[in-house]
Amino acid sequence: MIVVLHPSCTPEQQEAVVRRIREAGLGAHLSQGVMRTVVGVIGDDRTKEQLRTMLEAMDGVERVVKVLQPYKLVSREFQPQTTAVQVGPVRIGGPEVVVIAGPCSVESREQILQAARAVKAAGAVMLRGGAFKPRTSPYSFQGLEEEGLRLLAEARAEVGLPVVTEAMDARQLELVLRYADMVQIGARNMQNYTLLREVGRARCPVLLKRGPAATLEETLLAAEYVLAEGNPSVVLCERGLRSFDNHTRFLLDVGAVPVLQRLSHLPVLVDPSQAAGKRQWVPPLARAAVAAGADGLLVEVHPDPERALSDGPQQLRPQEFADLVRQLRAIAEAVGRTLAALPVGTP
Ligand code: PEP
Ligand code: MN
Repeated sequence: MIVVLHPSCTPEQQEAVVRRIREAGLGAHLSQGVMRTVVGVIGDDRTKEQLRTMLEAMDGVERVVKVLQPYKLVSREFQPQTTAVQVGPVRIGGPEVVVIAGPCSVESREQILQAARAVKAAGAVMLRGGAFKPRTSPYSFQGLEEEGLRLLAEARAEVGLPVVTEAMDARQLELVLRYADMVQIGARNMQNYTLLREVGRARCPVLLKRGPAATLEETLLAAEYVLAEGNPSVVLCERGLRSFDNHTRFLLDVGAVPVLQRLSHLPVLVDPSQAAGKRQWVPPLARAAVAAGADGLLVEVHPDPERALSDGPQQLRPQEFADLVRQLRAIAEAVGRTLAALPVGTP
């Protein structure tokens, strides 16, 4: 349920509305727009019906809207303007398309520094790289853990790109946040509700990947967990679905981009690399994502993918990535956007 306050609603009337909601044992989330303020009512649906008519009778209330979807705080009904998530100097969800790139995993000092320099030179504005890796097999490379985080921070210090990296478990979160600018919740963890609540409480920027078999509603409800804890800085990421065909590793749901942007005010990125599974399919999927209106991309780039310890076949070489970014500039422009650049003066 959403309470739309009248443009002339006074602070006292607004306070009375919030108080009435809290007295009913429900949560009240305020969203201050340019024109008007709306209050999201959070909690047990059974209590709400009674409260609805009471709120409608209060001064300063324009109308009370019943929300049809099960998610509220992430919905466009609750907040009409798109959320911009700020990660250091980078703004995700603004008019500019944000390109984030880097290796699948951090493997060595030399590897992450080379990757960071290359993706920055090509036009990426954030660095990615896994230190805790969710591998299908327990015998595969699991990541350098804290050493990987340290190397990411070193790369950031040298090239000036903010860093996004995955936390697989609530117990890793504090450590990851000591080094990273944004926490990635991987596709396999999209419904790890303990972890979602923890990143919600941590109030850090969150990159939430869609699960390989998650509906858009489930994805938005996962994001709702984070927002419900008071963290509005969530960026959604489509990375491909489990399908009946295996020509690509996962089936990229390009349609999810405009649909999510319609249903939610959260920015939407696309990871074409996990979906492609093979280097040659990455550029076409990346181009399609930007053409479909994605707010940014997460692309795997490795200085020497033949020697990569994870996802070698899908990682672009630096030159391939540079060529792709050039194409993306033209596509972004064709859909009325530009690629984000770092502010002048970044090292
Ligand atoms: C990754 O980004 O390297 C990764 C493991 O992604 P996903 O969680 O989408 O599989
Ligand atoms: Mn990967």
